[in-house]
Order: sequence, then structure tokens, then C-alpha cells
Amino acid sequence: MAVIDTYRLQSSPIAYMPSIIAWAINGCAFPEDRPTLFDYVSSVFPTVPRAAVEQLLTKAVPYTVEGDAVVFSVEATAPAMPELTCRKCDAVNPLVYFAPMTIEAKGTCVCFDCAKARQWLDANGDLRPDIQL
Ligand SMILES: [Zn+2]
Repeated sequence: MAVIDTYRLQSSPIAYMPSIIAWAINGCAFPEDRPTLFDYVSSVFPTVPRAAVEQLLTKAVPYTVEGDAVVFSVEATAPAMPELTCRKCDAVNPLVYFAPMTIEAKGTCVCFDCAKARQWLDANGDLRPDIQL
């Protein structure tokens, strides 16, 4: 399920964010100016991930103005999938696998090909109930 993070870019007494963000979005019409604008907004709001700033300024996500703050939401970047290595053939991250065991983003599994080669699968390609991995 997607996780949505919402950010508020609050105005300061010297910087009215709705105007600044509108200006930065307009500036992003020029691709060569984008890195500078991303850097600028990221430096003003160091707690907002740069990827979120980029989505806001390139209009990938909409925003609203609440009072003097700019509010927008982005889908949180998914945590990296653990790397799984087949315990039988050392294949890395097989598409189909069984019995994953993971410790701190590193893990092992048995890949589909190895399970099939050992006749551990039923006609549907599921692990036979009598097989314990
Ligand atoms: Zn394997």
C-alpha cells in the first residue's frame, strides 16, 4: 500500500511561500534552471526530501495554499527491497521464490527454478504442502 507523506512549506516573515513556490514552478518551465530551483527550495526546507521538492516544482503533484503555507503530498519512496539470494543456486533476487528468510535487508530464499528442479511444486507452481524449506 502506498504511503503518502504530506509537507507544509510555511511562510516566514520575509518569504511568502505561495508566491515563491509559484515563481519556482514557473521557473521549472526552463529545464536548465530546474537544478538551481530544486537546490534553492531544498535549502530553505532541509527537512523536505529533495525528491518531494522536485515533484512539487515540476507539477507532478498538486498543492494547496493553507493560510500562508504551501501544502502538498507525495507518495513516500518505498523502502528498498531486501536482497534475496537463492540458497541452492545463488541466484540474486529471483522473480519467484519460496521460503524467504531476511535479516537486516539481506536474505535467502529458494528460487522457483530450484524448487521446480527438485519437484517441490504442485501442478499450480505452488510449494507442495509436504515440503518444508
Ligand atoms: Zn535457485
